[in-house]
Amino acid sequence: MRLGLMSKFSIISAVVLLFTMTVFTFFNISTLKRAFMEVYTHDVDQLSETILRSTYDAMLRGDVNSAYQLMDQAGAQENIKNIRLIDKSGVVQYSRNKGEIHTVIDKNTDKSCSMCHQGSDAEVAAPTMDRSRVFTDAEREEVLGVTTGIYNEEACYQAPCHYHPGDVKLLGVLEVVMSLRGIMAQVNTYVYNVLVELVFLILALAICLNLLIRRLIISPVNTLLDHTKLISRGDWQFIKDAPPDEIGELADAFNEMTETLKNAREERERWAATLESRVEERTRQIRQMQSVLVRSEKLASLGELAAGIAHELNNPLTGILIHASFMEKYAELSEELGKDLATITAEADRCARIVKNLLDFSRKTEPRKAMNDLNETIDRALGLVEHLALFHNVEIVKEYAANLPELLLDAGQMEQVFVNMFVNAGQAMEGSGKLIIWTGLDVDGESVVIRVQDTGKGIKKEHIGKVFDPFFSTKGASGTGLGLSVSYGIVEQHGGTIEVYSEEGKGATFIVTLAV
Ligand code: ADP
Repeated sequence: MRLGLMSKFSIISAVVLLFTMTVFTFFNISTLKRAFMEVYTHDVDQLSETILRSTYDAMLRGDVNSAYQLMDQAGAQENIKNIRLIDKSGVVQYSRNKGEIHTVIDKNTDKSCSMCHQGSDAEVAAPTMDRSRVFTDAEREEVLGVTTGIYNEEACYQAPCHYHPGDVKLLGVLEVVMSLRGIMAQVNTYVYNVLVELVFLILALAICLNLLIRRLIISPVNTLLDHTKLISRGDWQFIKDAPPDEIGELADAFNEMTETLKNAREERERWAATLESRVEERTRQIRQMQSVLVRSEKLASLGELAAGIAHELNNPLTGILIHASFMEKYAELSEELGKDLATITAEADRCARIVKNLLDFSRKTEPRKAMNDLNETIDRALGLVEHLALFHNVEIVKEYAANLPELLLDAGQMEQVFVNMFVNAGQAMEGSGKLIIWTGLDVDGESVVIRVQDTGKGIKKEHIGKVFDPFFSTKGASGTGLGLSVSYGIVEQHGGTIEVYSEEGKGATFIVTLAV
C-alpha cells in the first residue's frame, strides 16, 4: 500500500504528539497528586496539633472526660473519619469508634504504629510524611491517617496527678483519620481539565502542523510533481513565485534543469531538422554528380564516335564539293541539271558544317585560361548576335553585378557558350520578347552565377532532360543538336555547371555556375 507524504507525516506526528503529551500529563498529574497529598497531610497534622493543644489543659488536670469530649466535638467535622488516642502500652484510650476503646494494639502489626516502630523503640519526632499513610477503611473508602506523638513534658510529670514518671519520653499517640473523598474529587477535576486541555492542545497542534506542512512542503512538492509531469509531456513550464527557502532552491534547480532539457531538446530537433535537409541536399548533389558523370561518359564515347565519322566524312565531302563546283562551271549544263547540282552543293555544304560541328564537339582541346572579366566576355558574345534580325524586336536587359571577381577562363570558349545560349533564346522567342542576362555571386560568395532568361516558347517536360544530349534538337533540319552539348563540355572543363529550368509556354532559364 502506497502512503502519501501527508499520511506518513500525520501518522508520525500523531504518534509523537500522543506519546510526548501522555508522558508529560502523567508526570504532571502524579506531581500534582503528590503536592496535594503533602498539603493535605500537613493540614491533618496541623489538626492533630490543634486537638492536642485544646485538650492540653484538661489532660494536665487529669480530666480525661473533658479532653475526650473536646475530641468528640473535633471529630464531628465532616471529613474526619476517626480520632483515636493510644497510650504507650498500645491501649486505645479514646476512639470515635467506641468499640475499640480499651482494646490493645500490637505496635508491630498495626499500620498506624509500625510507621514509627521500625525497630524496637519508636522514632521520636519523625517527619510528617513518614507519620502518614493512605489506606482503605472498613467502609471501603480511601482515607489518610496521620499519627502524632504525645511527648512527656515537665508540666506532665510535675502535675498533681503524678501519673507519668519524668524519664518517660513518649506518652502515647493521637491518630487522626481523614476522608480523601474531597481531595480526590479536586484531583479528579484537575486531571479531567488537564486531559481536556491536552486533547485540545493535540488537536490544535495537529491542525497547525498539518496546515503548515501542507503549505510549506506538500503543496510545493505537488507543484514540482505537476511540473515534472508536464515536462515529461514536452510542455516546458517554469515554476514561478518560489518561496525563499530550501523548496525555493529546489524550484530554482528544477527550473535550471527544465531550461537545460528544453535547450537540449531544441538542439536535438534542430539537428534532426538540418540533418534531414543536409541529407536531402547531399542526395541531390550525389544525383546531380551521377547524372553529370553519366552525361560526361556519354559525351566522351559520342565524341570519339563523332570524331571518327567526321574524319572519315571530311575527305569524301571535300571531294563532292570540289567536283560539284567544277561541274557548275560547264557551260553546256542544262538548267535542270544546274539546279540539281546547286542542291548537291548546298546539301554537301550542310554536311560539311555538321562535320565541322562534330569535330568541334569532339575536339579535346584544353581551354587556354586567363583571368577574365565575365561581364565583358558576355558583352562580347552579345555583340556578335544582337544585330541579327532575330533580336530586332527583342528587349535585352543586362543585370550585371558590378563587383564580380575576375575568373580564370578561356574567354573564346565561354563566348561560344553564351552565343549559343543567346541564339537559342532568340529562336525560342521567334523574333520578339525579353532577354534578361543576370550575373552575380551566389549566397555563400564562392561561385559566380550567370543567368540567361528568355520569354520564349519554353521546353516541353519530356524534352527538358535531353537538351544537353548531343544531336537532340527540336529544330529539324536547321538544328544540329550540338550547341548545348558542346556548351556543356566547355563549362565542365572550366569546373562549372550548367542547368536549365523551363516550362512549356513560359520561357526558359539557363544557369551557368563557375567557381571563383
Ligand atoms: P540546336 O539549337 O541545334 O537544336 P542545341 O543543343 O543548342 O541544338 O539545343 C537543343 C534543343 O534545346 C533545341 O533544339 C531546343 O529544343 C532546346 N532549346 C535550347 N535552348 C532553348 C530555349 N532558350 N528555349 C527553348 N528551347 C531551347
